[in-house]
Amino acid sequence: STTWQGKRVTVAGLGVSGMPVARVLNGLGAVVTAVSEGADERSRAQAAELEAQGITVRLGDGATLPEGTELVVTTPGWRPDKPLFAAAAEAGVPVWGDVELAWRLRELDGRKPAPWLAVTGTNGKTTTTRMLASILEAAGLRTAAVGNIGVSLLDVVLGETEYDVLAVELSSYQLHWAPSLRAHSAAVLNLAPDHLDWHGTMEAYAADKGRIYEGNHIACVYNAQDAATEHLVREADVEEGCRAIGFTLATPGPSQLGVVDGILVDRAFVQNRQKNAQELAEVADVDPPAPHNIANALAAAALARAFGVEPRAVRDGLRAFRPDAHRIEHVADVAEVAYVDDSKATNTHATEASLAAYDPIVWIAGGLAKGASFDELVQRSAKRLRGVVLIGAERHLIAEALARHAPEVPVVDLDRTDTGAMSAAVREAAGLARPGDTVLLAPACASMDMFANYNKRGEAFAEAVRELAAGRA
Ligand code: ADP
Repeated sequence: STTWQGKRVTVAGLGVSGMPVARVLNGLGAVVTAVSEGADERSRAQAAELEAQGITVRLGDGATLPEGTELVVTTPGWRPDKPLFAAAAEAGVPVWGDVELAWRLRELDGRKPAPWLAVTGTNGKTTTTRMLASILEAAGLRTAAVGNIGVSLLDVVLGETEYDVLAVELSSYQLHWAPSLRAHSAAVLNLAPDHLDWHGTMEAYAADKGRIYEGNHIACVYNAQDAATEHLVREADVEEGCRAIGFTLATPGPSQLGVVDGILVDRAFVQNRQKNAQELAEVADVDPPAPHNIANALAAAALARAFGVEPRAVRDGLRAFRPDAHRIEHVADVAEVAYVDDSKATNTHATEASLAAYDPIVWIAGGLAKGASFDELVQRSAKRLRGVVLIGAERHLIAEALARHAPEVPVVDLDRTDTGAMSAAVREAAGLARPGDTVLLAPACASMDMFANYNKRGEAFAEAVRELAAGRA
């Protein structure tokens, strides 16, 4: 076990990950230096808070490794190609993320740690993790949805509350920095290009996602309709006896969960040997019952079943589940046009799923592209598009894909990134829409060029729709 007393730890990055990490390590007696690239007002306030606890802070210098550093704990968002990490590698100093730290500290003070059921994927992580927690709760287990979902694993692992099992959402960044994490069971929901600016290549991104399977004990859950996820299972080094469990929207094979006549069925964990399938729930029990969301429900069910949860609890847990805001959320109907907020569709794979759910669509898109290509998305969705309204910094990339693959679709290119642009976009969209159409905000891009986050973008959209409704009333 690691002795923290006097250990010299550098915490890279302040903010939601770095602040609790610095506080916890300082509390354990480590000698903490927190480094931050920024030196803005917010960083200065955070620095003051840490300094008051006796922590050394270096603002505006995230590149040099403080003298004598024995361990770096980084904010997961810091890119692996940063000079600080080159310096750490040079000095033979290990680099952990906050998830790795939580994993290592989970047995601190002789605690009996709860097993982790882990979820990753390009899209559907939060939804699946919440569905899983809902199912585990319905089974009477003490659980929580934690991790990338916005609940610090470190707080949960070190907190007073005892858990039987945790539903853990992990991002590719967190997995990148979590070399020793070993889940009870884990799922990769899907794999599509995203965050390539961070990971460098699709291979590097997939390899980081695949880390979630390393050392799994009971089940590696993969998407039987996404060969890339199955490939990751095959590559993974797992505990003996760990099973590969597939989920599919089609009729399931052995060792799979799937759908038969509108029923979610399990052929992987069948206790009664007389039967070859176990009915879990109806498609209609899942909210919303869109195909991508049924896939999420099957993945959550597979992890819960791997943990020994009964079919009835799977059904009850799915029935109790309600989706979070800004995920294909119906805002209002105005003049017989539906306005739908899928601000959380921050990449092309998610956007394709939501564009597939409506027809015809006036599509509002744009923002920060994160290195993505829009050609396939536009090609596959062109038939459904009544029109497109583009906003944000990298909207030209979408405009160019539209010009290549859907030249007949009218495009309003709003040359704006100010916060008022959303209400202008909604007005333009209303102008393009006809009764029966859906105006869909599914940006296929990150929001940070115009908004603090996707929540704020979704709220701006909803506000603009209310303005529009008021103007029409
Ligand atoms: P994440 O946590 O991975 O970002 P969410 O559950 O928050 O995923 O959903 C993000 C967006 O991705 C949703 O708004 C929806 O458009 C889309 N989505 C959700 N599940 C899937 C899926 N299984 N496949 C493709 N797109 C999905």
